[in-house]
Amino acid sequence: MSNGAKIRTCCGCRKAEGKAGLIRIVRTPEGDVILDRTGKANGRGAYVHADAACLAKAERSKALDRSLKCAVPETIYREIEKELADNGC
Ligand SMILES: [Zn+2]
Repeated sequence: MSNGAKIRTCCGCRKAEGKAGLIRIVRTPEGDVILDRTGKANGRGAYVHADAACLAKAERSKALDRSLKCAVPETIYREIEKELADNGC
């Protein structure tokens, strides 16, 4: 379970970032794609800024799909959008 890198890259704007300010999306060992609110879920993670513009870019470019090596369902994007709205972004 080591892929070493502590630097996380936003799948929207491709900027490297610390953990703060990023939303983690995980492909679980079972093959589900989930929004990881705790940051502790097992599986392959991808990150996007808690920013609607970055999310939209990531959706358009399918960068999350590539990063997770599977298709990210549209519901995940909608769920993150809702999360952002709830946080007043
Ligand atoms: Zn970004």
